[in-house]
Amino acid sequence: MAEPLWNYSIKCPFCEAKFETTRMRTSAIRTKELMSDFGNIFEGECPYVYAITVCPTCSFAARNSDFEKIRVQSEAKIMAASKQLRLSTKPKPDIFKLGPSTPEVAVKRFELAIAFYKMRYVVEMGVLANMNLHVVWLYRLAGNKEKEQLALAQAAAIYEEYLAKAYTLPESLGEPGVIYLIGDLTRRQGKLKEARRLFESALASKEIKDYPKIADMSRDMIQLIKDEMEKTSQTA
Ligand SMILES: [Zn+2]
Repeated sequence: MAEPLWNYSIKCPFCEAKFETTRMRTSAIRTKELMSDFGNIFEGECPYVYAITVCPTCSFAARNSDFEKIRVQSEAKIMAASKQLRLSTKPKPDIFKLGPSTPEVAVKRFELAIAFYKMRYVVEMGVLANMNLHVVWLYRLAGNKEKEQLALAQAAAIYEEYLAKAYTLPESLGEPGVIYLIGDLTRRQGKLKEARRLFESALASKEIKDYPKIADMSRDMIQLIKDEMEKTSQTA
C-alpha cells in the first residue's frame, strides 16, 4: 500500500514561489468513529493535520482545496500581506516543515489560514466557522482540554453569528443541523441548560422534517442532558 503522506509540488499564487507541501492520501484515510460535533476519529494519520497549505516564502495559508484556486486579482489585502511577509527575515517556525506533523502544529497552520480568510474580499462565514471547528477537533486530538474549551466557545460564537446572518447554510446540516451543532459545542462547555434549549430549538425548526438524523441526535442529546442533570442533583 502507498504511504499515507506524500509531498506535493505547488506554486504560491501570491509570491509565485515554488515549494513542496505534505498531504495525506485520501485512500489512506480510515474513519473509526463520528463524534457528536461531526468530527471524526481516525485510525492512523489524521487528515485534519494535513488540511492546510502554507507558503514558506510569504506565509500565505489556505485550505488545500482553496490554495491554488484563489483569485489573486481580487485579493489586494492578501497581496499586501504577502509582500510584507516576504521581506521578513525572522526564522521560519516549524509550521513550514515537511513530513509527519502534529495536531499542535496543525492548529498554528489553521490559525494562520483563518487570518488570511478574514482578509479575503468576500469573507465566507461558513468556511471560517468550519475552520474553527477543526481547531476544536485538533485540540481534542492533542488532549489539550483547556485549549479545547476556549476553541469550543469561539467556534460556537462564530456558528451563532453565521446562523443569525442567515447566509446559505450547508445543505448537509440545514438550519436544524447548525443549531444542533451549536448545542453540542455548548454542551461540551458544560452549559447543559443552554445546550438543552438549543437542541429543543433544533427540533422546533421548520426544516426538521428534512433532517431526520439531526432530529434523532437532538432527542438523544436532550435525554443525555436529562440523565446528567438527574445524576448531579442526586449527588448534590
Ligand atoms: Zn507565497
